[in-house]
Amino acid sequence: MRWSGQLINEGDGADSGDGAAAAPAQPGLFATSDVVVRTFDTPGFRGATFYEVRAKSILNKVPGSSPMFGWTINPYRGCGHRCVYCFARKTHTYLDFDAGLDFDTRIVVKVNAVEVLRRELARPSWRRESVAMGTNVDCYQRAEGRYRLMPGIIGALAEAGTPFSILTKGTLMLRDLPLLTAAARDVPVQLAMSVGSIDESVWRTVEPGTPSPARRLDAVRTLAESGLGCSVLMAPILPFLTDSPEQLRGTVEAIARAGARSVTPIVLHLRPGAREWYYEWLQATYPQLVPRYRALYRNGSYAPSWYQDRITAAVREYARDNGLGRSARPRTETQAGAPEKPAAQAAVEVQPALWDDVG
Ligand code: SF4
Repeated sequence: MRWSGQLINEGDGADSGDGAAAAPAQPGLFATSDVVVRTFDTPGFRGATFYEVRAKSILNKVPGSSPMFGWTINPYRGCGHRCVYCFARKTHTYLDFDAGLDFDTRIVVKVNAVEVLRRELARPSWRRESVAMGTNVDCYQRAEGRYRLMPGIIGALAEAGTPFSILTKGTLMLRDLPLLTAAARDVPVQLAMSVGSIDESVWRTVEPGTPSPARRLDAVRTLAESGLGCSVLMAPILPFLTDSPEQLRGTVEAIARAGARSVTPIVLHLRPGAREWYYEWLQATYPQLVPRYRALYRNGSYAPSWYQDRITAAVREYARDNGLGRSARPRTETQAGAPEKPAAQAAVEVQPALWDDVG
Protein backbone atom coordinates (compact mmCIF):
# COMPACT_ATOMS: atom_id res chain seq x y z
CA MET A 1 0.00 0.00 0.00
CA ARG A 2 1.40 3.32 -1.12
CA TRP A 3 1.05 5.12 2.20
CA SER A 4 2.84 2.60 4.33
CA GLY A 5 6.15 4.34 3.74
CA GLN A 6 4.70 7.68 4.83
CA LEU A 7 3.85 6.57 8.35
CA ILE A 8 5.73 6.35 11.58
CA ASN A 9 4.49 4.70 14.75
CA GLU A 10 2.06 6.45 17.01
CA GLY A 11 0.43 3.61 18.95
CA ASP A 12 -2.18 5.66 20.84
CA GLY A 13 -5.63 4.15 21.08
CA ALA A 14 -6.93 6.17 24.03
CA ASP A 15 -10.29 7.89 24.26
CA SER A 16 -9.80 11.65 23.94
CA GLY A 17 -13.11 12.77 25.42
CA ASP A 18 -15.27 15.48 23.81
CA GLY A 19 -17.55 12.85 22.35
CA ALA A 20 -14.62 11.31 20.55
CA ALA A 21 -13.80 7.64 20.50
CA ALA A 22 -10.52 6.19 19.36
CA ALA A 23 -9.50 2.68 18.49
CA PRO A 24 -6.67 0.95 16.72
CA ALA A 25 -7.05 0.88 12.96
CA GLN A 26 -8.67 -2.19 11.52
CA PRO A 27 -6.29 -4.65 9.90
CA GLY A 28 -6.02 -4.31 6.15
CA LEU A 29 -6.12 -0.51 6.07
CA PHE A 30 -2.91 0.43 7.84
CA ALA A 31 -0.61 -1.35 10.21
CA THR A 32 -2.42 -1.16 13.55
CA SER A 33 0.40 0.59 15.37
CA ASP A 34 0.67 3.32 12.74
CA VAL A 35 -2.82 4.79 12.81
CA VAL A 36 -5.41 5.90 15.35
CA VAL A 37 -8.97 5.64 14.14
CA ARG A 38 -11.34 8.19 15.67
CA THR A 39 -15.02 9.07 15.41
CA PHE A 40 -16.81 12.09 16.85
CA ASP A 41 -20.39 12.03 18.03
CA THR A 42 -21.01 15.66 17.19
CA PRO A 43 -23.11 17.27 14.43
CA GLY A 44 -21.16 17.62 11.23
CA PHE A 45 -18.92 14.64 12.02
CA ARG A 46 -21.43 11.83 12.45
CA GLY A 47 -20.79 9.06 9.98
CA ALA A 48 -17.20 10.17 9.44
CA THR A 49 -14.13 8.25 10.54
CA PHE A 50 -10.78 9.95 10.97
CA TYR A 51 -7.50 8.10 10.48
CA GLU A 52 -4.85 9.99 12.38
CA VAL A 53 -1.43 9.31 10.93
CA ARG A 54 2.02 10.69 11.55
CA ALA A 55 3.56 11.65 8.22
CA LYS A 56 7.26 11.37 7.52
CA SER A 57 7.21 14.31 5.11
CA ILE A 58 4.73 17.07 4.31
CA LEU A 59 6.28 19.19 1.55
CA ASN A 60 5.66 17.51 -1.80
CA LYS A 61 7.67 18.51 -4.86
CA VAL A 62 5.49 18.78 -7.95
CA PRO A 63 7.31 17.09 -10.84
CA GLY A 64 8.17 19.47 -13.66
CA SER A 65 6.53 22.39 -11.89
CA SER A 66 7.16 26.12 -12.12
CA PRO A 67 8.62 27.89 -9.07
CA MET A 68 5.18 29.45 -8.47
CA PHE A 69 3.59 26.04 -7.95
CA GLY A 70 6.67 24.06 -7.08
CA TRP A 71 5.50 22.48 -3.86
CA THR A 72 2.28 21.38 -2.25
CA ILE A 73 1.09 20.56 1.25
CA ASN A 74 -1.87 18.25 1.79
CA PRO A 75 -2.64 17.76 5.49
CA TYR A 76 -5.72 15.65 4.70
CA ARG A 77 -6.70 12.81 2.36
CA GLY A 78 -10.37 12.32 1.53
CA CYS A 79 -12.78 15.23 1.83
CA GLY A 80 -16.00 15.75 3.76
CA HIS A 81 -17.15 18.33 1.22
CA ARG A 82 -18.26 15.31 -0.82
CA CYS A 83 -18.28 16.87 -4.28
CA VAL A 84 -19.55 14.23 -6.66
CA TYR A 85 -17.11 15.16 -9.42
CA CYS A 86 -13.98 15.41 -7.25
CA PHE A 87 -10.90 14.39 -9.24
CA ALA A 88 -9.05 13.43 -6.04
CA ARG A 89 -11.36 10.46 -5.46
CA LYS A 90 -9.02 8.14 -7.26
CA THR A 91 -6.16 8.93 -4.87
CA HIS A 92 -8.18 7.36 -2.05
CA THR A 93 -7.86 3.99 -3.72
CA TYR A 94 -4.10 4.17 -3.09
CA LEU A 95 -4.99 3.85 0.61
CA ASP A 96 -7.10 0.72 0.10
CA PHE A 97 -10.24 2.85 0.42
CA ASP A 98 -12.82 3.24 -2.33
CA ALA A 99 -13.23 6.38 -4.40
CA GLY A 100 -16.89 6.81 -3.47
CA LEU A 101 -18.34 6.83 0.04
CA ASP A 102 -14.95 6.08 1.62
CA PHE A 103 -13.51 9.25 0.09
CA ASP A 104 -16.39 11.25 1.64
CA THR A 105 -16.34 9.66 5.09
CA ARG A 106 -12.91 8.14 5.78
CA ILE A 107 -10.59 11.08 6.23
CA VAL A 108 -6.86 10.69 6.76
CA VAL A 109 -5.39 13.41 8.99
CA LYS A 110 -1.63 14.05 9.18
CA VAL A 111 -1.73 15.12 12.80
CA ASN A 112 1.96 15.98 12.95
CA ALA A 113 1.87 18.13 9.80
CA VAL A 114 3.04 21.32 11.52
CA GLU A 115 5.91 19.66 13.37
CA VAL A 116 7.17 17.96 10.19
CA LEU A 117 6.74 21.13 8.14
CA ARG A 118 8.82 23.19 10.59
CA ARG A 119 11.55 20.59 10.38
CA GLU A 120 11.53 20.59 6.57
CA LEU A 121 11.47 24.38 6.28
CA ALA A 122 14.50 24.62 8.59
CA ARG A 123 16.69 22.63 6.21
CA PRO A 124 19.50 24.69 4.66
CA SER A 125 18.47 23.28 1.28
CA TRP A 126 14.97 24.86 1.46
CA ARG A 127 14.84 27.55 -1.25
CA ARG A 128 11.58 29.23 -0.21
CA GLU A 129 9.73 28.32 -3.40
CA SER A 130 6.00 28.89 -3.34
CA VAL A 131 3.82 26.26 -1.67
CA ALA A 132 0.28 25.53 -2.88
CA MET A 133 -2.47 24.16 -0.63
CA GLY A 134 -5.87 22.84 -1.64
CA THR A 135 -4.55 21.32 -4.85
CA ASN A 136 -5.49 17.74 -4.01
CA VAL A 137 -8.17 17.85 -1.34
CA ASP A 138 -9.58 20.84 0.50
CA CYS A 139 -7.39 22.00 3.38
CA TYR A 140 -10.36 23.91 4.87
CA GLN A 141 -12.74 20.97 4.80
CA ARG A 142 -14.84 20.24 7.90
CA ALA A 143 -12.13 18.19 9.58
CA GLU A 144 -9.97 21.31 9.80
CA GLY A 145 -12.50 22.81 12.19
CA ARG A 146 -11.53 20.13 14.68
CA TYR A 147 -7.88 19.40 13.91
CA ARG A 148 -6.79 23.03 13.34
CA LEU A 149 -3.68 22.22 11.32
CA MET A 150 -3.79 25.26 9.04
CA PRO A 151 -2.94 27.94 11.63
CA GLY A 152 0.34 26.18 12.40
CA ILE A 153 1.06 25.62 8.72
CA ILE A 154 0.42 29.26 7.83
CA GLY A 155 2.59 30.43 10.71
CA ALA A 156 5.43 28.09 9.82
CA LEU A 157 5.45 29.14 6.16
CA ALA A 158 5.39 32.85 6.98
CA GLU A 159 8.16 32.52 9.56
CA ALA A 160 10.27 30.65 7.01
CA GLY A 161 9.78 33.38 4.38
CA THR A 162 7.91 31.00 2.10
CA PRO A 163 5.18 32.34 -0.24
CA PHE A 164 2.01 30.28 -0.39
CA SER A 165 -1.39 29.95 -2.03
CA ILE A 166 -4.63 28.42 -0.80
CA LEU A 167 -7.56 27.18 -2.90
CA THR A 168 -10.69 26.14 -1.04
CA LYS A 169 -14.46 25.84 -0.95
CA GLY A 170 -14.35 26.25 2.82
CA THR A 171 -15.52 29.45 4.45
CA LEU A 172 -13.58 28.16 7.44
CA MET A 173 -10.62 29.99 5.89
CA LEU A 174 -12.04 33.17 7.45
CA ARG A 175 -11.25 31.74 10.89
CA ASP A 176 -7.58 32.28 10.00
CA LEU A 177 -8.00 35.76 8.50
CA PRO A 178 -5.86 37.47 11.18
CA LEU A 179 -3.10 34.92 10.64
CA LEU A 180 -3.31 35.22 6.87
CA THR A 181 -3.18 39.00 7.13
CA ALA A 182 -0.11 38.80 9.33
CA ALA A 183 1.53 36.30 6.98
CA ALA A 184 0.88 38.57 3.98
CA ARG A 185 3.06 41.22 5.61
CA ASP A 186 6.02 38.84 5.37
CA VAL A 187 5.41 36.77 2.22
CA PRO A 188 3.22 36.84 -0.91
CA VAL A 189 -0.11 35.13 -0.17
CA GLN A 190 -2.59 34.13 -2.88
CA LEU A 191 -6.12 33.08 -1.92
CA ALA A 192 -8.75 31.55 -4.19
CA MET A 193 -12.29 30.35 -3.65
CA SER A 194 -13.90 27.73 -5.89
CA VAL A 195 -17.47 28.63 -6.96
CA GLY A 196 -18.63 26.82 -10.07
CA SER A 197 -22.15 28.21 -10.09
CA ILE A 198 -24.61 30.09 -7.90
CA ASP A 199 -27.42 27.64 -8.76
CA GLU A 200 -28.42 26.39 -5.31
CA SER A 201 -30.50 23.45 -6.51
CA VAL A 202 -27.52 21.97 -8.33
CA TRP A 203 -25.17 22.84 -5.44
CA ARG A 204 -27.26 20.92 -2.89
CA THR A 205 -26.95 17.69 -4.78
CA VAL A 206 -23.52 17.92 -6.39
CA GLU A 207 -21.50 19.50 -3.53
CA PRO A 208 -23.58 18.45 -0.50
CA GLY A 209 -20.90 18.96 2.16
CA THR A 210 -19.77 22.43 1.11
CA PRO A 211 -20.86 25.88 2.27
CA SER A 212 -23.40 27.36 -0.16
CA PRO A 213 -22.13 29.41 -3.10
CA ALA A 214 -23.61 32.51 -1.46
CA ARG A 215 -21.61 31.90 1.71
CA ARG A 216 -18.46 31.30 -0.30
CA LEU A 217 -18.95 34.58 -2.14
CA ASP A 218 -19.55 36.32 1.18
CA ALA A 219 -16.14 35.00 2.20
CA VAL A 220 -14.64 36.39 -1.02
CA ARG A 221 -16.17 39.75 -0.14
CA THR A 222 -14.73 39.65 3.37
CA LEU A 223 -11.29 38.82 2.00
CA ALA A 224 -11.55 41.62 -0.57
CA GLU A 225 -12.54 44.10 2.11
CA SER A 226 -9.71 42.94 4.34
CA GLY A 227 -7.18 43.92 1.68
CA LEU A 228 -5.95 40.36 1.21
CA GLY A 229 -8.05 39.83 -1.90
CA CYS A 230 -9.36 36.58 -3.31
CA SER A 231 -9.64 35.10 -6.78
CA VAL A 232 -12.46 32.82 -7.86
CA LEU A 233 -12.08 29.57 -9.72
CA MET A 234 -15.40 29.14 -11.53
CA ALA A 235 -15.04 25.41 -11.32
CA PRO A 236 -16.25 23.10 -12.37
CA ILE A 237 -18.77 24.32 -14.91
CA LEU A 238 -21.13 21.38 -15.39
CA PRO A 239 -22.33 20.77 -18.97
CA PHE A 240 -26.12 21.03 -19.34
CA LEU A 241 -26.50 21.86 -15.63
CA THR A 242 -24.73 25.16 -14.98
CA ASP A 243 -23.62 26.24 -18.45
CA SER A 244 -26.55 28.15 -19.90
CA PRO A 245 -25.77 31.77 -20.87
CA GLU A 246 -28.09 32.98 -18.10
CA GLN A 247 -26.37 30.80 -15.49
CA LEU A 248 -22.89 31.78 -16.58
CA ARG A 249 -23.78 35.45 -16.66
CA GLY A 250 -25.47 35.30 -13.25
CA THR A 251 -22.51 33.55 -11.66
CA VAL A 252 -19.96 35.96 -13.14
CA GLU A 253 -22.05 38.92 -11.98
CA ALA A 254 -22.18 37.52 -8.44
CA ILE A 255 -18.42 36.92 -8.47
CA ALA A 256 -17.82 40.49 -9.63
CA ARG A 257 -20.19 41.88 -6.97
CA ALA A 258 -18.23 39.99 -4.32
CA GLY A 259 -15.12 41.94 -5.31
CA ALA A 260 -13.15 38.99 -6.65
CA ARG A 261 -9.68 39.73 -7.90
CA SER A 262 -10.20 37.53 -10.99
CA VAL A 263 -12.29 34.68 -12.36
CA THR A 264 -10.97 31.51 -13.98
CA PRO A 265 -13.50 29.20 -15.69
CA ILE A 266 -12.80 25.47 -15.72
CA VAL A 267 -15.08 22.93 -17.38
CA LEU A 268 -15.76 19.60 -15.66
CA HIS A 269 -13.14 16.88 -16.09
CA LEU A 270 -14.22 13.27 -15.78
CA ARG A 271 -11.15 11.18 -15.06
CA PRO A 272 -11.30 7.55 -13.98
CA GLY A 273 -12.18 7.40 -10.29
CA ALA A 274 -14.40 10.48 -10.46
CA ARG A 275 -16.07 9.47 -13.69
CA GLU A 276 -17.81 6.36 -12.34
CA TRP A 277 -19.06 8.19 -9.25
CA TYR A 278 -20.28 11.14 -11.32
CA TYR A 279 -22.19 8.96 -13.79
CA GLU A 280 -23.80 7.05 -10.93
CA TRP A 281 -24.97 10.35 -9.47
CA LEU A 282 -26.09 11.64 -12.88
CA GLN A 283 -28.09 8.49 -13.54
CA ALA A 284 -29.85 8.85 -10.20
CA THR A 285 -30.39 12.61 -10.34
CA TYR A 286 -30.59 13.70 -13.97
CA PRO A 287 -30.97 10.44 -15.96
CA GLN A 288 -32.10 12.30 -19.07
CA LEU A 289 -28.62 13.87 -19.29
CA VAL A 290 -26.64 10.64 -19.36
CA PRO A 291 -26.69 10.20 -23.17
CA ARG A 292 -25.66 13.81 -23.68
CA TYR A 293 -22.72 13.40 -21.30
CA ARG A 294 -21.68 10.15 -22.98
CA ALA A 295 -21.62 12.01 -26.28
CA LEU A 296 -19.78 15.09 -24.97
CA TYR A 297 -17.12 13.03 -23.16
CA ARG A 298 -16.89 10.25 -25.74
CA ASN A 299 -13.21 10.98 -26.39
CA GLY A 300 -12.06 10.71 -22.78
CA SER A 301 -11.86 12.75 -19.60
CA TYR A 302 -12.26 16.20 -21.12
CA ALA A 303 -15.05 18.02 -22.91
CA PRO A 304 -14.04 18.85 -26.48
CA SER A 305 -12.09 22.04 -27.09
CA TRP A 306 -14.95 23.68 -29.00
CA TYR A 307 -17.08 23.37 -25.88
CA GLN A 308 -14.36 24.63 -23.56
CA ASP A 309 -13.64 27.54 -25.90
CA ARG A 310 -17.31 28.48 -25.94
CA ILE A 311 -17.47 28.55 -22.14
CA THR A 312 -14.25 30.54 -21.83
CA ALA A 313 -15.42 33.10 -24.40
CA ALA A 314 -18.76 33.51 -22.64
CA VAL A 315 -17.17 33.96 -19.21
CA ARG A 316 -14.67 36.38 -20.66
CA GLU A 317 -17.48 38.46 -22.18
CA TYR A 318 -19.54 38.51 -18.98
CA ALA A 319 -16.47 39.26 -16.91
CA ARG A 320 -15.62 42.19 -19.15
CA ASP A 321 -19.20 43.46 -18.88
CA ASN A 322 -18.79 43.39 -15.10
CA GLY A 323 -15.37 44.98 -14.90
CA LEU A 324 -13.57 41.68 -14.39
CA GLY A 325 -11.91 41.59 -17.78
CA ARG A 326 -8.98 43.96 -17.63
CA SER A 327 -5.38 43.08 -17.04
CA ALA A 328 -4.08 42.96 -13.50
CA ARG A 329 -0.83 42.23 -11.76
CA PRO A 330 -0.75 38.80 -10.13
CA ARG A 331 -0.85 38.87 -6.35
CA THR A 332 2.76 37.75 -6.15
CA GLU A 333 3.81 41.06 -7.65
CA THR A 334 1.82 43.27 -5.31
CA GLN A 335 3.03 44.56 -2.02
CA ALA A 336 1.99 42.16 0.70
CA GLY A 337 -1.00 43.48 2.61
CA ALA A 338 -1.63 46.21 0.06
CA PRO A 339 -5.22 47.43 -0.34
CA GLU A 340 -7.41 45.29 -2.59
CA LYS A 341 -7.60 46.33 -6.22
CA PRO A 342 -11.05 47.52 -7.29
CA ALA A 343 -12.97 44.84 -9.21
CA ALA A 344 -12.65 46.88 -12.40
CA GLN A 345 -8.92 46.11 -12.45
CA ALA A 346 -9.27 42.39 -11.90
CA ALA A 347 -8.83 39.81 -14.63
CA VAL A 348 -9.91 36.62 -16.28
CA GLU A 349 -6.77 34.64 -15.62
CA VAL A 350 -5.03 31.93 -17.52
CA GLN A 351 -5.69 28.76 -15.62
CA PRO A 352 -2.75 27.83 -13.40
CA ALA A 353 -1.55 24.34 -14.22
CA LEU A 354 -1.95 22.98 -10.73
CA TRP A 355 -5.54 24.15 -10.47
CA ASP A 356 -6.44 22.47 -13.73
CA ASP A 357 -7.94 19.54 -11.87
CA VAL A 358 -9.58 21.30 -9.03
CA GLY A 359 -13.28 21.56 -8.68
S1 SF4 B 1 -13.59 19.07 -5.12
FE1 SF4 B 1 -12.41 19.96 -3.45
S2 SF4 B 1 -13.94 20.49 -1.89
FE2 SF4 B 1 -14.91 19.05 -3.30
S3 SF4 B 1 -14.61 17.01 -2.39
FE3 SF4 B 1 -12.90 17.38 -3.80
S4 SF4 B 1 -11.30 18.25 -2.54
FE4 SF4 B 1 -13.21 18.43 -1.40
